Amino acid sequence: MTLPSADHQAPACGACHGETTHDGDDFVCYDCHLAFDPETLEARFLDPDAEVCGQPCDNTWHDDNAITVGEGFNCHPCQLPKGHDGANWFHWTGCEPITLTSPAPATAGANT
Ligand SMILES: [Zn+2]
Ligand SMILES: [Zn+2]
Ligand SMILES: [Zn+2]
Repeated sequence: MTLPSADHQAPACGACHGETTHDGDDFVCYDCHLAFDPETLEARFLDPDAEVCGQPCDNTWHDDNAITVGEGFNCHPCQLPKGHDGANWFHWTGCEPITLTSPAPATAGANT
């Protein structure tokens, strides 16, 4: 009896979540122009000389208190290589959720 063995699937691109293509060396997302190390899955630019896209984050949900009161985002410009493809609204900014510092003065240990 013979059963089919399982296939490894190519990992999903961390930016657009599309399937990557194994180019013999790395997993590559041709939409985002990123290459992922097959061992660590760490991303790098497909073209190491490419400039950074730099499109500013325009997600209005990233405004202070937009989703949750007291929370906002530390926004970054798009960090993909310039000229990356995919939907033209798609940029990967890697914005980090942050807790907004309350305007009221902190009481414990604020002044030293
Ligand atoms: Zn991608
Ligand atoms: Zn943002
Ligand atoms: Zn971009």
